[in-house]
Amino acid sequence: MTVRTRFAPSPTGSLHIGSARTALFCWLFARHHGGEFILRVEDTDRERSTEASVQTILESMAWLGLEADEGPFYQTQRFDRYREVIQRLLDDGHAYRCYTTPEELDAMREAARSRGEKPRYDGTWRDSTATPPAGVDPVIRFKNPQTGTVVINDAIKGEIRIDNSELDDLVLQRADGTPTYNLAVVVDDMDMNITHVIRGDDHVNNTPRQINILAALGATVPIYAHMPMILGEDGKRMSKRHGAVSVTQYRDEGYLPEALLNYLVRLGWSHGDDEFFSIEEMTRLFTLEGVNRSGSVFDRKKLDSISQHHMQTAPAERLAEVLQPILAARGVDTSKGPDLANVANALRERARTLVEMADAAHYFYVAPTSYDAKAEVKLLKPAATELLQSLRDRLAELEPWAADDIQAAIQATVDDAGVGFGKLGQPLRLAITGTTASPSMNEVIALLARDNVLARMDAALRRISSDT
Ligand code: GLU
Repeated sequence: MTVRTRFAPSPTGSLHIGSARTALFCWLFARHHGGEFILRVEDTDRERSTEASVQTILESMAWLGLEADEGPFYQTQRFDRYREVIQRLLDDGHAYRCYTTPEELDAMREAARSRGEKPRYDGTWRDSTATPPAGVDPVIRFKNPQTGTVVINDAIKGEIRIDNSELDDLVLQRADGTPTYNLAVVVDDMDMNITHVIRGDDHVNNTPRQINILAALGATVPIYAHMPMILGEDGKRMSKRHGAVSVTQYRDEGYLPEALLNYLVRLGWSHGDDEFFSIEEMTRLFTLEGVNRSGSVFDRKKLDSISQHHMQTAPAERLAEVLQPILAARGVDTSKGPDLANVANALRERARTLVEMADAAHYFYVAPTSYDAKAEVKLLKPAATELLQSLRDRLAELEPWAADDIQAAIQATVDDAGVGFGKLGQPLRLAITGTTASPSMNEVIALLARDNVLARMDAALRRISSDT
């Protein structure tokens, strides 16, 4: 049997990180078993679904690298198929037309409530032979079995039992002819030969109903695995109140997709005490047995530490590839300047995110047009002139232009003047980068072209002389 999983987002907003985690688990499970991962857009709720949401979900999935083997399929393009299956259920006596009006239904529910019972449809039309009232468009309901128990062997939660007497007759088709969520899901899971339904546990109440419909259709019931929710620090379901919830926000804040995936996989799954996983490792190690049974709390600090790990270990070319568009969007042309992979290598120790790295990479491509104000007052003073000038003269002649030789030139300059390293190092850093924080100056200088370095030093020297 080929494992087939599906991710079935409703396009009513951007891709929530909880949904992204569901998608990841479905994708990992399929990949782990050499199976197939299907993407299905559940857009039957026409009021709440938007094309913009579809686009941001697809874009987020692509950014995360969770590529589908089939799809995206759109439920709105399958209405004929849903109607066909509903007709079959009617023909086989598993469904019936119900003419109860919305007002009657409200009254029915109210009456049940006042008797202290669960509000539910009472089955009036289930076996009725009465003549349908004129002018009422019927809904079509599923004839849920009235006895027996539905047993779900949930791959995460374990056995769940629901008595059929708890379930009323579900609407399969609304009065306007459109299929309901539960019907569309069942038909799709059946037609798409889904073997494992991995989804959030907010759907666990739908599962016994879906199993009953599948059984009525004679379809194979998939294995269900319901994942606990992601929680905010207050223990409530993670939402906008708790901070960023959409995948695109994390992308825009500069997290590597592999870092976000590593964080999401750990948030709800464990493999011993391991924290860091590459995509290849998580694919190899992922099992549903490793998924936690209880909800996990979203922890931004943990995300940052995982992000930092990936920033430190990603191949430099990978960092360059993702950094380049961020810098381009800021108008920074990286084609004229040091190789971006080398810059990323120099900056990786200090950056938690790509945005921090892009901030720091800026001065490698654009000479400072101003200096950190406080630092300028403190450092660009006549006392620095001689040191900067002397180093400038050495650098003008230096061969080869390499980090070690540059370091030697800096050392020789302070040794000759009989001063500590900082007396030159700090003004030099400000002159070259415009800031007070950067990797070692010899490394920064080695990455820049000699002309560029000399020009920046000259600009700082002119600044000192014009200030005095
Ligand atoms: N469309 C549903 C949602 O976005 C998921 C349905 C399912 O996974 O069965 O919550």
